[in-house]
Amino acid sequence: MLTISKLNKFYDKTHVLKDVDLSVAQGEVVAIIGPSGSGKSTLLRCINLLEKPESGTLTIDDLTVDVAKISTKQENALRQQTGMVFQHYNLFKNKTALQNITEGLIIGKKMPKAEADAIGLNLLEKVGLREKADSYPAMLSGGQQQRVAIARSLAVKPKVILLDEPTSALDPELVQEVLQVIRSIIDHQTTILLVTHEMSFARDIADRIIFMADGAIVEDGEPEQIFTRPQHQRTQRFLLSYQ
Ligand code: ADP
Ligand code: MG
Repeated sequence: MLTISKLNKFYDKTHVLKDVDLSVAQGEVVAIIGPSGSGKSTLLRCINLLEKPESGTLTIDDLTVDVAKISTKQENALRQQTGMVFQHYNLFKNKTALQNITEGLIIGKKMPKAEADAIGLNLLEKVGLREKADSYPAMLSGGQQQRVAIARSLAVKPKVILLDEPTSALDPELVQEVLQVIRSIIDHQTTILLVTHEMSFARDIADRIIFMADGAIVEDGEPEQIFTRPQHQRTQRFLLSYQ
């Protein structure tokens, strides 16, 4: 469903993603772990083309593109297949929770407002925030803002949801409510890539764990294997730092 092949990304002369290959099946939940600076965020940002990789191919569903020769049309088509959730929520501050969710439907998909509102309210219900529809981000806790951001990422029914350390910026007491919402969006249809430092959560929900270091995928396997019998010394050392 999602295939990345020989993906390379440079920031100036720094080689940040090095010939990354990755294939993910539809509905699969993949947790990406690894030390800070290993390229996890860059990988997600390259998948939804927030960053443009220098070379490689990217396939989502039935569309395959050579990233070096990508057209604007292909770029938009690929972007529409992904929803992204950031560490710092990135909600529009001057829009209500509901407006944040419906924006992409009304502006992007040209959906009538009433229809978009119905979808938005439904999604707010799903993340437990129906009563906050008219609240602005400043009136919401970090956990609530992130739950709105998750609802927003689902609005356009993307094939792939990319979550980049969605709980890292939260006060500890707000982490669980967001993890609970992430757990609830797993439907085995939508593909989910989650970058996280919540190891026990990753172990619990993911079908597969990817360990990245220095811009490469070092290890890729089932949670049970990665957490109990990591094959690479680099993975072993990284996991030990969490004990
Ligand atoms: P991670 O998410 O695993 O912490 P990142 O993908 O954010 O890692 O970063 C990978 C490498 O790319 C790091 O060395 C980082 O300093 C560098 N990097 C990330 N974003 C930029 C940028 N916008 N400009 C220059 N270097 C960057
Ligand atoms: Mg990061």
